[in-house]
Amino acid sequence: MVDSGIQPWLFHVDPYEGESLSHFVGRVRHRNHLTAGGLGQLAGIGAVVARWERFHLNPYPTQPQFEALGKLLGISSERLWAMLPPQDEGMKCEPIRLCGACYQESPCHRIEWQFKSKWKCDRHNLKLLSKCPNCEAKFKIPSLWEDGHCSRCRMSFGAMATMQNS
Ligand SMILES: [Zn+2]
Ligand SMILES: [Zn+2]
Repeated sequence: MVDSGIQPWLFHVDPYEGESLSHFVGRVRHRNHLTAGGLGQLAGIGAVVARWERFHLNPYPTQPQFEALGKLLGISSERLWAMLPPQDEGMKCEPIRLCGACYQESPCHRIEWQFKSKWKCDRHNLKLLSKCPNCEAKFKIPSLWEDGHCSRCRMSFGAMATMQNS
C-alpha cells in the first residue's frame, strides 16, 4: 500500500494564480511521468482524475478527495477548490477557451475562461478564443497543454494574442 503522506520522490509543482484543475493536474502528471490513473491511485482516490481533466464534474469532487490529492501534492484542499468555478458559477467544459495575452504573462489555462458567463478577458479586454485563430483546430483539454502550442499548426498560445478581437 502507498502511504498517503507527501511523497519525497514526487516533484512538487506550484499552481499558478487562477490556474484550472485540468491544467495543474496535467503539469503534475507530466513532471512526474504519471498517468491520470496512476496519480489517482497514489492519492487513493481511484479513477476520477481523468474525468476531472475533462471538466466532467458530475459527480462533483468531494472534500475527502481533494484533501487526499492535496496531501499527496503538498498543497491545501482550498487551493484545489480554487481551481474550479465557485459553486454559484455555471461552467462550460467545451469548447476549451484561451486568452493568448494572459497566456503570455502566465502560461496556464485559467479556470475563469470556462465560466458560462465569460466570453471576454476582463484583464485585456479581448474576446476569448475558442479555437486556434490560425488553423481553427479546437484546443485540447488543458491537461495536454504542456508545450503551449496549437496541436495542429504549432502556433504558440502566446502569439495568438495578436489575433484576438476586442
Ligand atoms: Zn487576458
Ligand atoms: Zn492551429
